[in-house]
Amino acid sequence: MPAQKDILAPQQQTAPTKVGFVSLGCPKNLVDSEVMMGMLAHAGAELTSAAADADVIVINTCSFIGSAQQESIDTILEMARHKTNGQAKKLVVAGCLVERFRDEILRNIPEVDAVVGTGELHRILSASGVVATNTAPNPFNILTSRPEGDHRRQQGRFARDSWDGAIADLPNYLYDEATPRVLATPGYTAYIKIAEGCDHPCTFCIIPQLRGQFRSRRFESVIAEAERLAQSGVREITLIGQDTTCYGEDFGLKDGLALLLEKLAGVEGLRWIRFLYAYPNKITGRLLETIAAHENICSYIDVPLQHASASALKRMKRGGGSDLFLRSIDKMRRTIPSLTLRTSFVVGFPGETEKEFDELCEFTKEVGFDWMGAFGYSDQEGADAFELENKISPREIESRRKALMSIQKRISRAKKKAFVGREVDLLLMGPSEESDLLLEGRTAMHAPEIDGKVFVNDHPEGMEPQEGQFYRCEITEAHDYDLVARII
Ligand code: SF4
Repeated sequence: MPAQKDILAPQQQTAPTKVGFVSLGCPKNLVDSEVMMGMLAHAGAELTSAAADADVIVINTCSFIGSAQQESIDTILEMARHKTNGQAKKLVVAGCLVERFRDEILRNIPEVDAVVGTGELHRILSASGVVATNTAPNPFNILTSRPEGDHRRQQGRFARDSWDGAIADLPNYLYDEATPRVLATPGYTAYIKIAEGCDHPCTFCIIPQLRGQFRSRRFESVIAEAERLAQSGVREITLIGQDTTCYGEDFGLKDGLALLLEKLAGVEGLRWIRFLYAYPNKITGRLLETIAAHENICSYIDVPLQHASASALKRMKRGGGSDLFLRSIDKMRRTIPSLTLRTSFVVGFPGETEKEFDELCEFTKEVGFDWMGAFGYSDQEGADAFELENKISPREIESRRKALMSIQKRISRAKKKAFVGREVDLLLMGPSEESDLLLEGRTAMHAPEIDGKVFVNDHPEGMEPQEGQFYRCEITEAHDYDLVARII
């Protein structure tokens, strides 16, 4: 692809530009940061982890809910101080906040020199001044789309005309196995983004407007990247996308995720493979059987159900309900007996009655999720739910969220207790952040950065446990969410 080479050709510079990166938000955003860092490094820039040393500071922002937007703005203002009082000459804001508030950022924060939306990652070079100009079109455009997405686009699902300064084109960027990428994760673990965007109509969510229509990476591209990562020492791969269970539908692939996992299971060196996130009605029998059939595919499903009451789910435009979900979870557990099941719920959605909330609590008790997150509903201008009446007060939302989390705490405590005395494989992550006297790791039940931790407080004499290695452990203690283990 010659156009790509032209854009990414290393620059002849006497002193390389030093670029510092701050990545906020979810793993999908982290991969975008890794891609931008890869492009910059390939073009001759030097990456630095010290903001005070950087000539250019890039903040890759999140705009999912109000608190994430506030964190993004606070970080931009904090980094802007390095431009006023320090070494930095340029401040670049990238990511979802740019898609949402492009003009407002430039207008209200004069220290910001350039913005780069989620669909324009290749523009990071010219925005950072690492190359003088870069007006070539995105060479990685993926032109396929799903009929559902096209239909919803016609209905206005992706419209963002009312957003101040939003560019008319929806983001359609998607990186490729040939795109340079600098991993920000420890060398033994990596995310692979297999799809971008989302076609679902959930009324509380603006991700489709921020990230565009659903589109998948080519099958061969994902495999090639996984092989390269495994050859470089990566042992754990986490496939990500807004909805990984739709993978391949845009190019007519049926059961695309199952096929992809099957192929990845054969990549030499990969010990744990998992995917985040599943859409409830997209979890097929074939997908479950594929997980069950391969030892290196983690028996782990993260399916954000968002609610359990059929009436609340209908207002969320998600469909389903507790009976349907219970049947589906039963099938998952029958097919994968050692399944670790994670979900997340939105609490206090407009009009959520006490009866609906009680149904959610009863459902949570009945299922007994291994991991669960509860998020208070956050009103987002541009989301359909913004227009709904009967908003629940923030105080009531928080009280319901706490009540649901306390139910889950009891469930989690009992589930973790049942592990005491069992043997598990543990991936050692190094010294614990909680105490110098402990090590920290994860098992196949723990997705990176999301679930609880396993603290290691004992190992055979003379052994020096190494970060990034797998060890057989015995669980010796259980807490509400965390476990304690000894290496055997
Ligand atoms: S499936 Fe997830 S990303 Fe897509 S619209 Fe719904 S909540 Fe948003």
